[in-house]
Amino acid sequence: MEMIKTKDLVYEYIRRDEEGNVEGLTTAVDRVNLDVAPGEFIAILGHNGSGKSTLAKHINAILYPTEGVVLVDGMDTSQEAYLWEIRQRAGMVFQNPDNQIIGQVVEEDVGFGPENMGIPTKEIWERVEESLKAVGMYEYRKHSPNKLSGGQKQRVSIAGVLAMHPKCIVLDEPTAMLDPKGRKEVIRAVRALNQVEEITIVLITHYMEEIVHADRVFVMDQGRIAMAGTPREIFSRVERLKELRLDVPQVTLLSHELQKKGLALPDGILTQKELADELDRILAGN
Ligand code: ADP
Ligand code: MG
Repeated sequence: MEMIKTKDLVYEYIRRDEEGNVEGLTTAVDRVNLDVAPGEFIAILGHNGSGKSTLAKHINAILYPTEGVVLVDGMDTSQEAYLWEIRQRAGMVFQNPDNQIIGQVVEEDVGFGPENMGIPTKEIWERVEESLKAVGMYEYRKHSPNKLSGGQKQRVSIAGVLAMHPKCIVLDEPTAMLDPKGRKEVIRAVRALNQVEEITIVLITHYMEEIVHADRVFVMDQGRIAMAGTPREIFSRVERLKELRLDVPQVTLLSHELQKKGLALPDGILTQKELADELDRILAGN
């Protein structure tokens, strides 16, 4: 069974004027069909307003379909009886870590989720420990979250979700407010959860370099899935990515330009190392 499945999902926001009169509808998600297998690492890319957050909120039953169906671990999100079960299985991490951390001490904050689930105290502490270790924040367990860097705070938020033992974590632009170092820390933690803990990951981002390690990538535009494929397939379509208003990494752009000039480079170069290796090969005449 799929971990996440959407079938012809449509979501419309109702637009209202200042007096609350209905002005019209915005179709934020438009007939999206998505299948995510257990243990997969999926990335969703797209410029602002393309519908990423609206789609993400359906996986956590924050929003319900206007049309179509969303299944999380086989459970229909529109059935109220499944609400808490769905939220426990599919955890959500948002952009701003400051809005997600409520505890005065890191370990306390991470314990809130399992505490609300009625988990016995001894097990809560076990979960807090393992979750903080999984994101590399165990040594900060007694610290005040306020003093942490953005990347550290975001890893504490991820630990808080992890402590609820989800099967899947949806991260909606978790690195958007972080510096490059913080971004790397968070992406590394997310990859470890996928590879070590086998947690299904849905990573929403507009940083193309963060999708390199995903199994599959979906690019959204105007509420629809405009492109789908492996990172390499996605990166090899530079012209299309530009049309979809995405920032293609410098190294991929450069490789694409060199290729157009006649250099025998493969499509979809993703890293500097790859380009350097290919150039070595060409210069050596192989
Ligand atoms: P993204 O996360 O890719 O930036 P969103 O899902 O936030 O995209 O938004 C998709 C579309 O829905 C946009 O046109 C946006 O303006 C609209 N939208 C988002 N939230 C609301 C809302 N609460 N009310 C009305 N329209 C909204
Ligand atoms: Mg968004």
